Amino acid sequence: MDITLVQGDITEQRVDAVVNAANSSLMGGGGVDGAIHRAGGGRILQECRRLRDTSHPDGLAAGDAVATTAGEMPATWVIHTVGPVYSASADRSHILASCYRRSLEVAEELNAATVAFPAVSTGVYGWPMDSAADIAVRSVTESSPTLGEVRFVLFDAQAYEAFSRALG
Ligand code: ADP
Repeated sequence: MDITLVQGDITEQRVDAVVNAANSSLMGGGGVDGAIHRAGGGRILQECRRLRDTSHPDGLAAGDAVATTAGEMPATWVIHTVGPVYSASADRSHILASCYRRSLEVAEELNAATVAFPAVSTGVYGWPMDSAADIAVRSVTESSPTLGEVRFVLFDAQAYEAFSRALG
């Protein structure tokens, strides 16, 4: 499995699945979530609603992942995961690691060969970038899916550099 880094917009990636840093309501939000729903169009929200009405009446728990269509984006699927809100007093890194692990499990179930991740929890949820990058790289490296490529798509240079350092 190749791990690659690009600085850019995740909604433009030509991969089988893009991962969304969603919130547990699955009803959309700001940041990368808003960008994905805008770029993919209303079918994504329609499928999220259906998940809420059927398998996830209480929403999606932090650390878990579910898939929908990617609508009008170049990708085929969106894998929605819910990152933990950063806490300086409680160690929630196992939940952040679970976001990556569960997303890759869902990708395997879909037979997706290429998956793009944003830096989950590093926006509104406040996770420090260097720490988030270490956790992301470690949990992807430790999971052993039969995927071809995991691509981290970092929005700005600071995030790109943090992930470069983490990849070492
Ligand atoms: P969270 O609520 O999990 O913190 P955010 O969407 O607020 O999620 O931020 C997660 C990361 O996604 C941040 O580093 C932010 O800069 C980045 N981001 C925002 N828009 C995009 C995009 N279009 N493509 C890739 N990354 C993005």
